[in-house]
Amino acid sequence: MNTPNNTEQAAVVTWLSRRAGVSREQSQTLPADIIELLASSPRQGLERLFTHLNRKRPAEGKLNMQARELSSAIESARSDIAQRIAKQTTTGWSERPEIEKEGRLDHLITDVEGSFLAFESRLRECANQTHMPSYLRPEELYSPFEAVRLNQSNGQRNMVRRRRQIASGETSSTIALGNPYQFFYDLQEGREQGGGNVEGAASFSPVMRIMSLPPKHDPQSVLRLLIQYHEMRHANQDASRRIAMMGNPAALQAYIDFHTGKGNEKPRIVVTEEASAYGYEMEALNVLLKDRLQNGTPSAAVVMKELGCKQEERPNVETLLHIARHYFPEGMNGGGFSQRFIDFMRDVHIDLGYDVFVPTTSGRLKQLTKTM
Ligand SMILES: [Zn+2]
Repeated sequence: MNTPNNTEQAAVVTWLSRRAGVSREQSQTLPADIIELLASSPRQGLERLFTHLNRKRPAEGKLNMQARELSSAIESARSDIAQRIAKQTTTGWSERPEIEKEGRLDHLITDVEGSFLAFESRLRECANQTHMPSYLRPEELYSPFEAVRLNQSNGQRNMVRRRRQIASGETSSTIALGNPYQFFYDLQEGREQGGGNVEGAASFSPVMRIMSLPPKHDPQSVLRLLIQYHEMRHANQDASRRIAMMGNPAALQAYIDFHTGKGNEKPRIVVTEEASAYGYEMEALNVLLKDRLQNGTPSAAVVMKELGCKQEERPNVETLLHIARHYFPEGMNGGGFSQRFIDFMRDVHIDLGYDVFVPTTSGRLKQLTKTM
């Protein structure tokens, strides 16, 4: 059996290969004291590592981010092994698959958060080289990343572990609900309901505030990252709705009923929320493409080359370009979405099998039907 010390070292080696471009073979040739320093003091360890490899030390912000990522990978490995040992001595190995799932999700969360925040850096770099539309507020554009960053201090964001802890009474199910911005990650089992989701892509459930992750994460796929960006916008919408409903339990209950769909067979969406999530997704894509989306849609081949997409992602790129043609050139000029785009969102989601609603001036939600 692994000793905890070996587990920490294994976590360091895995992290190095995934996030710092140091292969497993290369790790074996590193002096043992560097690996030990990385495990005990990630920040100093990284400094030493880069000196040792004769690599340029990353900028302060990036180095701090890497140190945080590494320390959370080590932390996960530690708690994983501690739980295995605890389970082994008390209940044998009967619950081992669940514990393994927790560990797997810990790693996935580290990967997903790390690649999403790296995606932010890429977006910001592109934004510096682009003439962004004047209506686009940077704090809005980057808000999904801010939300992920804030949630990194949520020690209970591994939903597999949280469910076990709630079941065993180790934690109360209500603790994390105090903060409307907190959310949780879960492993996606099979395909999520809701016909509009790309198979194997992240999806966010409002009310429960769970981001379900596909078991395989490709940190290089810009399309997956854009979907995550879109889903994080839903997480922020859900947080804003909850804040607006604080002190109004009846409104909160109506919101929960709306989304949990009591007596409704079809999944439901609010058209303005989807328009906003897709709208900002288009804006982010436009920034990545250095403004080319706004100025006449480029071909799928050009976009794929620019974003480094795989051949099999072509249908998804074409879908994005189709949406872009309904969103641009109007964008959010005038502070909102064009009626053309709202109508398009309505029809697309009805076709995908959703019940589609729109908020009325009284604050109620009215169901929409397709106009011919
Ligand atoms: Zn959506």
